[in-house]
Amino acid sequence: MWLKSYLDFSADRPMWAYLADDLIASHVPKACRPSQPELRLNTFLQNWNPKVRNLPNELKGMVNVAKKYGLRLEGLAFSRNIMRSVPMWDHPHARRKELSRLCYQSKVTTCLRSNHRARTVGDFERLASTLDEPGHRPSAECECAGCMSLENNDVCEHPHECCTRARQMIATLPGKWNPTVRQPEDYEEATMGEIQAQLAESSFAPFDRRVTTYGDLGQAFRIFTGADPVSNTGISMEIDEDGSRLEVATDGSCTHNGEANARAGAGVFISDDNILNCSVRVPAYIDQSNQTGEAIATLTA
Ligand SMILES: [Zn+2]
Ligand SMILES: [Zn+2]
Ligand SMILES: [Zn+2]
Repeated sequence: MWLKSYLDFSADRPMWAYLADDLIASHVPKACRPSQPELRLNTFLQNWNPKVRNLPNELKGMVNVAKKYGLRLEGLAFSRNIMRSVPMWDHPHARRKELSRLCYQSKVTTCLRSNHRARTVGDFERLASTLDEPGHRPSAECECAGCMSLENNDVCEHPHECCTRARQMIATLPGKWNPTVRQPEDYEEATMGEIQAQLAESSFAPFDRRVTTYGDLGQAFRIFTGADPVSNTGISMEIDEDGSRLEVATDGSCTHNGEANARAGAGVFISDDNILNCSVRVPAYIDQSNQTGEAIATLTA
């Protein structure tokens, strides 16, 4: 339960969790990257690891449990709110070499860190948007509203360079973690609404196509016991507008449901003699039950 409160990033986050952040960030191996402690925001949200044996016992236990159970950020798709809350420095899903090359200590990275105080993907996205400011020119002398505000509020002498670097850093993020590209969040509610309206008069139940995880960052953590890498390519759940509609009936069935010798199957039916009609057995490595039959039928369809 320690872990759950530690990974609560809402306003209810307990005070000890902030102290834990500092303790974990300051107990690291000598060669740890990022080398600035203030950029080591959270070991579970970035690639760096603390020197666990030097931590106080409670934190040692918490970090070990999380590592043992493969705690990580995972899901099919995330809301931009979640993507924007992930630290940009040492981002766990960025193309790592490219990102670390862009983060080498320099005038620009120091300015991003110390003057702009940029930490999260959201901070960098805001900086990068200055490049789209009306009247912006690619020069340190630019006097557009965006550049002027960065010069005055962040005491930056080269806003164009900083904002360009911010954009390059965001570009190292794969589709699933990049808030500047199209996401299922942009259309899934509207699509669901349309489908519900179309089916309102019928006896069909709409299939819930929504895949986005909403809420705050804490909701995006999952436990994985396997070490299999997960795809970071953004998924598209958009419906092909030119496609035609097809009514499909699916069903699962199971003999001896709930018993050891249960055998489950699935069927997909479109119309009499349709070549797409099919029936499959639920593979032996999946639980044999009526529910898995139903799920496999939907998947097959
Ligand atoms: Zn400008
Ligand atoms: Zn700057
Ligand atoms: Zn059924």
